[in-house]
Amino acid sequence: MSSKKAKALQKIAGEISQCRLCRKGGTGKVVPGEGNPDARIVFIGEAPGREEAKTGRPFIGRSGKLLRQMIRDMDLEEADVFITSPVHYLPLRGTPSTSMIHHGREHLFEQLSIINPDLIVLLGNSACVALLDGKVEITKKHGTLVMKDDRTYFITVHPAYAIRFTKGKEMLLRDFKKLKRLLRSRQ
Ligand code: URA
Repeated sequence: MSSKKAKALQKIAGEISQCRLCRKGGTGKVVPGEGNPDARIVFIGEAPGREEAKTGRPFIGRSGKLLRQMIRDMDLEEADVFITSPVHYLPLRGTPSTSMIHHGREHLFEQLSIINPDLIVLLGNSACVALLDGKVEITKKHGTLVMKDDRTYFITVHPAYAIRFTKGKEMLLRDFKKLKRLLRSRQ
């Protein structure tokens, strides 16, 4: 593992935890993201939930268990990937506002430029708003790749949507099968 990258990511995590704008409209512990600084693949969600806000770790609640299981089902180790989100605190009002996403993504861009992954998986709408600059019709575009500014994005639904709706679960499962094939073909 590159300790230079690890240090740079720690520095960003420190900046996020000191950032007053990130804190605005949110509560609980800061969740800056975690994983391998050399990850080929980065997963981006929305904002921490209750469990994440208690511990400071991303995707460890119900949605997180599903996401982490799906990552293992692709024959990846959790320790091989990086998991983060545009918003770093549990939003006081449920869904984060666009301005929270637009502020938080500035830190996210820095994380991505350090990690420089081959593929970025966008889990749901807030991740698309952050990285693709606008709302995407996820139910139509899920399972597809988007190239933007020299980066490759894979669009899928948020695991929370998959837990709530059977059709969402089917979409997520299908997309992750596709993702597994895609990663194999790029090895
Ligand atoms: N949902 C997210 O988008 N991120 C988390 O860390 C947990 C739930």
